[in-house]
Amino acid sequence: MAQIRIENVRKEFGSFTAVQSSSFTIEDGEFFMLLGPSGCGKTTTLRMMAGLELPTSGEIFIDGEEVGMKRASERDIAFVFQMFALYPHMNVGKNMSYPLISQGMSRSDAQKRVLEVAKILGIEDMLNRPVGGLSGGDRQRVALGRAIVREPKAFFMDEPLGALDAEFREHMAEELRALHDRMGATTVYVTHDQLEAMQMGDKIVVMNHGVVEQFGKPQEIYDWPATKFVAQFIGSPSMNFLDFSGNVEPNSNKVKIDGHVIDIPTSRDGVVGDLSLGVRPEHIKFDDSSDYKGEVIAVEYLGTTQIITLQTPNGIIKSRIASDQQVNNGEMIGLSFDARTLTLFDNKNGRALVSEANEGAFNYG
Ligand code: ATP
Repeated sequence: MAQIRIENVRKEFGSFTAVQSSSFTIEDGEFFMLLGPSGCGKTTTLRMMAGLELPTSGEIFIDGEEVGMKRASERDIAFVFQMFALYPHMNVGKNMSYPLISQGMSRSDAQKRVLEVAKILGIEDMLNRPVGGLSGGDRQRVALGRAIVREPKAFFMDEPLGALDAEFREHMAEELRALHDRMGATTVYVTHDQLEAMQMGDKIVVMNHGVVEQFGKPQEIYDWPATKFVAQFIGSPSMNFLDFSGNVEPNSNKVKIDGHVIDIPTSRDGVVGDLSLGVRPEHIKFDDSSDYKGEVIAVEYLGTTQIITLQTPNGIIKSRIASDQQVNNGEMIGLSFDARTLTLFDNKNGRALVSEANEGAFNYG
């Protein structure tokens, strides 16, 4: 078990900065997701925490101890990669016991420990089988087993399910999460899949171009994105933006969009310029009494819900409504919004304005 803290950690490769100065804390026992698009610096951040890459500057603490000069092998952590490397000439049991025996544990103690872990993973009847003939999922379980037997302080996983097909991936994701809940070891998990991060993580760090955009609980990040990038990256369809030019007075609870007054959570910030009103698809209400209208340009049936695409005076937006509601292409629909769910963004820097609803939800690296 371990608390991991990174403080002002930065990584440069030559003149390229892969990770800008970042700080966040992973609490003991958390399942912690590093999330972002390809190339945003997730793996580099993970590798620095694990001791496989040295930061250019900044400090990393495990359980309060600064570990900058410690190699990976001295940090008492276990790495699980996407392309899990098993020893092909050894059977499952030997693959799992190898790390223990090479640490000096007796064969009989190692076998006992391997059996315990194999039972947790449901692979106890495979211990004598060669790894060569195993399915992808079973190989992944063996790789996990090999990491778990050592009882490390923390697990570091880099897209461990990336090579699996969609259905099995979901199953393994559930298994991994359940395993974590049983064992309680701190787990840091890299993924570019926002759904995986939302489903599995206790906390999520969202990164973009080497910058920590926000970190927090999945629901905080979904409900109160700190930046437009986070708002777009999390959720499908992503948050809508109604673009407008205007001003927001500090402590006001209304904005004027093309002559229409819209209620918002009381804004602590005031700003003048290009703004966006962010609204999630499920928070758009079809409201005959509203004179703010959008024209239906597409209807997408998804079973229990449908996605309605609307052209508004302030851009195209997508709404998610129940599928039993009849909506036709070309229809003009009055729209209203649930004020408590709205986020205003300053388009100059892409950041959310602080309001009574979201204050306290923003943690930047
Ligand atoms: P992916 O999911 O594609 O692996 P990522 O978010 O994990 O993306 P990183 O692997 O951390 O991204 O890479 C961040 C950036 O740093 C990328 O532009 C990558 O090309 C660059 N980079 C990573 N390692 C090195 C290296 N050893 N030398 C030079 N550039 C590197």
